[in-house]
Amino acid sequence: MISGPSAQGELVHGLLDAAAREVPDAPAVRDATGAWTYRQLDHYSQAFARWLSIRGIGRGDRVVLQLPTNRKLAAMFYGASRCGVIFVPLNPAMKTFHLRQVIDNAEPKLLIGGTATAGQLADIAGPVHLQDELWAEVEELRARGARFEPEPVRPDDVATLIYTSGSTAAPKAVICPHAQVTFASRALTDALGYRADDVVFCRFPMSWDYGLYKVVMTCISRSEIVLADGESDLLLLRRMRETGATVVPVVPSFASMIINLARRAPADLPPVRMFTNTGAALPQATTDTLRKLFPGVRVVRQYGQTEAKRITVMPPAEDRERPGAVGLPLPGTRVLILDDEGRPVPAGQVGEIVAVGPHVMPGYWNSHEVTAKAFRQVEGTGEACLHTGDYGSLDVDGYLYFEGRRDDMFKRKGFRMSTLEIEGAAMDIPGVRAAGALAPTSNHDLTIFVESDLEPSVVLKELAQRLEPAKVPAICRVLAEFPLTQHGKNARQELALLLDGSGA
Ligand code: ASP
Repeated sequence: MISGPSAQGELVHGLLDAAAREVPDAPAVRDATGAWTYRQLDHYSQAFARWLSIRGIGRGDRVVLQLPTNRKLAAMFYGASRCGVIFVPLNPAMKTFHLRQVIDNAEPKLLIGGTATAGQLADIAGPVHLQDELWAEVEELRARGARFEPEPVRPDDVATLIYTSGSTAAPKAVICPHAQVTFASRALTDALGYRADDVVFCRFPMSWDYGLYKVVMTCISRSEIVLADGESDLLLLRRMRETGATVVPVVPSFASMIINLARRAPADLPPVRMFTNTGAALPQATTDTLRKLFPGVRVVRQYGQTEAKRITVMPPAEDRERPGAVGLPLPGTRVLILDDEGRPVPAGQVGEIVAVGPHVMPGYWNSHEVTAKAFRQVEGTGEACLHTGDYGSLDVDGYLYFEGRRDDMFKRKGFRMSTLEIEGAAMDIPGVRAAGALAPTSNHDLTIFVESDLEPSVVLKELAQRLEPAKVPAICRVLAEFPLTQHGKNARQELALLLDGSGA
């Protein structure tokens, strides 16, 4: 019997069923090789579900897919959902070292690889289905009109495991049940105001929640997603133009790339109406330049963690208000700011950001200790909550201001500060394309890395004009190319290695 609050909610493939029923001929998903309507996406998802069930793969089984992000992967996501199978997408760039840990942790029943990844997957985990061969079978099943006999999937069943990357610690998988994924996707679609005539240009892989949820959000809003993960950097703007992109999710490094391309062709820009940012703070200078190049565009600040998908969103209509704020909690959720003893602090005071609501995931897969640290209960009410390990404050109207991770915050010369504000000041210097600050340690003083053609002394002088003396770094290293994680965030560990290891 289905009971209890966790059994309420929607199923991921239920969202596709509704879209395919209501707008079967509307464009659903496009990639470099073509496009499908909602009817076609639905049919392929049915055929893939059938393919899985023929192989005896069913509810609760993990299927690991190390594949490029394209239409087929979107259909496989919905197809896995139909069978109650847990979809485990891995970034094709993930290397053996992490892959081994992931396979040990996920214990998959089936593996699917592409031409670039099947070899290393097979070395680690045994037989791998090659996507091209598999797809020929799926095509055949679809041509025969194969439908899938529905399995009794529950909203509290796990839809996907998202492995978080970017650190050298063992990768952790965030457990994402259907109820949480569908709740967060609906809340986000509303908060951002996605429209049926939108074309959402997604540069991010489905192995990252930022990319994966876009597939669900466009389905909810009956809009079209362009999966552009594999596109060449240089062609991105042209591709946005060709596809008529109206909404473009960014991270700071991708926003800088768009700016560089747009500056070269200012008269021929795509019809973007909204850029949305998450993952890392968008420097004010980048926001200003996007607004100048794309007149009337909204640049929406957000804050989230895979562990609760998204936590706050700035209402798009208020994108120029409250500089520095990263928005309001998702509708139907709350944000608490707690001190070290777990007590709420007054508005304006900094404490740990804690998210409460139906978007909070149940924890990490097969990792009880780390789960217990982050996923807890609100004292008094017993509601599930996520201790983010991030610091921030709420203003009197409930808008969140992000200060940084616990590790980003430090004291120097008696002042409390965050690497983020130092990076923000560096990004404000004309000619600085990327910046990463490292807090002082016993090995080195406060250091700033920049990607730029400027001399280190010039960067430090410029920083001194923007920051209080205690916050001006002692060391500046100029890099020709900035190390980024697979998701376009600053690769801090690599920066630290440059400093403490062999030197830049
Ligand atoms: N989950 C975050 C978001 O979508 C992205 C991240 O984890 O960096 O806001």
